[in-house]
Amino acid sequence: MQIAVASGKGGTGKTTIALSLAYFFKEKNLKVAILDCDVEEPNVNLFLNLKIQEEKSCNVMVPYIDKSLCSACGECERICQFSAIVLVKGKPLFFPEMCHSCGGCTLICPEKAIKEIARETAKIEISQKDNLFFAGGKLNIGEAMSPPVIRQVKENFIDADIRIIDSPPGTSCPVIESVREANFLILVTEPTLFGLNDLSLAIEMARALKIPSAVVINKSSKSDYLIKDLCKQVNIPIIGAIPEDREIAENYSKGEFISVVKEKYNAQFKEIINHIKNFRRIYNS
Ligand code: SF4
Ligand code: SF4
Repeated sequence: MQIAVASGKGGTGKTTIALSLAYFFKEKNLKVAILDCDVEEPNVNLFLNLKIQEEKSCNVMVPYIDKSLCSACGECERICQFSAIVLVKGKPLFFPEMCHSCGGCTLICPEKAIKEIARETAKIEISQKDNLFFAGGKLNIGEAMSPPVIRQVKENFIDADIRIIDSPPGTSCPVIESVREANFLILVTEPTLFGLNDLSLAIEMARALKIPSAVVINKSSKSDYLIKDLCKQVNIPIIGAIPEDREIAENYSKGEFISVVKEKYNAQFKEIINHIKNFRRIYNS
């Protein structure tokens, strides 16, 4: 089963929830994989602190232009929707960071002056401890194209009993790439007006992708009514609430919050896991 953890905005505690869930499932002796798809700001292994056992390059195919064969026809510039090739004084100039690897320019070049070569954009780190498996992507500095990296992160540990995806914040392409095959989506939010606005966008995204979803309120407070009212209106369940807790925040900053969560919020996580199990039963029946 694949559970994605997402949030409309950063800083809501998405990684706290994803990692805590991974630990709670791990203690049930399941093979659990946690996949850090927040490849622009990966932080899962800061908390797991696993020794990286394998590092793979994440490559994308980009054009290489043999200028000696080029007739300056401009077809490559015309077809490129991302302005990654521009003709300057009759010579094609290529901007690799803007290329989306669609292959269009290679196909259209009448002189066969373009071939594709591999270009590394990120590293994928892989590790394991007991029944907990980790894969995470790290975009190289200056790179902007995260969806291919996210795809490659998600190719790992397909056979795990539970795969938990820690997705990037927001509702744009990288998030959609992270959550698209999830069986269940947990939307983490906080009870503020910003949280409310971003949660409503995240709910729309989940509905558009037709992924069964539920909400977890992090930093729960007397303002929870903001989130409860929205969830009631759009008929989405709230399956957990973790209170604002200074002890979690302090331990988070030291990379050590999981033991606090396990000790103090065992009941809340049991409830979240029960909701997921119930969903699984309905889903499989
Ligand atoms: S399509 Fe080929 S021949 Fe035409 S400008 Fe581009 S590289 Fe040169
Ligand atoms: S592969 Fe696609 S995106 Fe990249 S330069 Fe060629 S046409 Fe543009």
